[in-house]
Amino acid sequence: MQPKIDLHMHTTCSDGTDSVEALVNKIVKGGFTHFSITDHATIDACFEVEKYKKELNGIKFYNGTEVSCEHGMLDDLHLLGYGFDKNAKPMLDMSEKAKSYRKQRARKMFEHLENKHNIKVPKHYQDAILDIPTVGSPHVGRVLIEMGFGDTLSEVIPKYLQGIKVTELKINLLEAINTIKTCGGIASLAHPIRIMKGFNYTHKDIDLLVGELKPLGLDGIEIYNCNQSKSDIEEFITIANKYKLIMTGGSDYHGKNKPVSLGMLSSDGTQADPNLLEEFFEKVKPAF
Ligand SMILES: [Zn+2]
Ligand SMILES: [Zn+2]
Repeated sequence: MQPKIDLHMHTTCSDGTDSVEALVNKIVKGGFTHFSITDHATIDACFEVEKYKKELNGIKFYNGTEVSCEHGMLDDLHLLGYGFDKNAKPMLDMSEKAKSYRKQRARKMFEHLENKHNIKVPKHYQDAILDIPTVGSPHVGRVLIEMGFGDTLSEVIPKYLQGIKVTELKINLLEAINTIKTCGGIASLAHPIRIMKGFNYTHKDIDLLVGELKPLGLDGIEIYNCNQSKSDIEEFITIANKYKLIMTGGSDYHGKNKPVSLGMLSSDGTQADPNLLEEFFEKVKPAF
């Protein structure tokens, strides 16, 4: 049987719109063979998914998380962690710290909206948002839509929520890599295409960044992602081979929050080659 793989998805534990249960149903119905849930700043889904082992009936699940990190001038690098021990204290501590940073970042977004855009978010909205365990810009964005400042997240987020300085409220990249590895996992650089778009980087710049991160412990790179086209994928495979990195791939599914379907591993229909993901399955231990 041809494997069907998706190693990057979000649930309501962070900023996705599907509960773990709803996602599990889609994984089963969709004929997936291997998957990982990689919520931002939390590993709650790794615990929750255990309830559905029976329904998953042999489908392999890998513990996962996605950490927003800062590294020097780069204030928003996403790092995927896979196969770690979900009960290990350093992982749990890092998730708690990341959650608290997220709340502080949300407060900064409210300040920014008030100071730069003269938008005062009413207190009941602010309180509700600060109650969300892994609050992020989509949550604040949705309130802006409710308040009538736009129709879609892709419209309001760039317009109102960008350029907010939050470097000090991000986990340091090396700390994240070390924590994931100390807890038995591997660390993979998420969606390099977004680094290119966010920081005006070329493929060559990604090559240099990876060359710097590999000796610091980076294990992998996400070659397949819903935002990456055939030519991006080819470039990232070359980089992975050059630095002997484990290749990973996932859709970055967020449910209704992004127009991305489960298992969508490229932006242009390029199909994932399961052979390239083989090393991941050799080196990373599934949770079940
Ligand atoms: Zn990400
Ligand atoms: Zn993601």
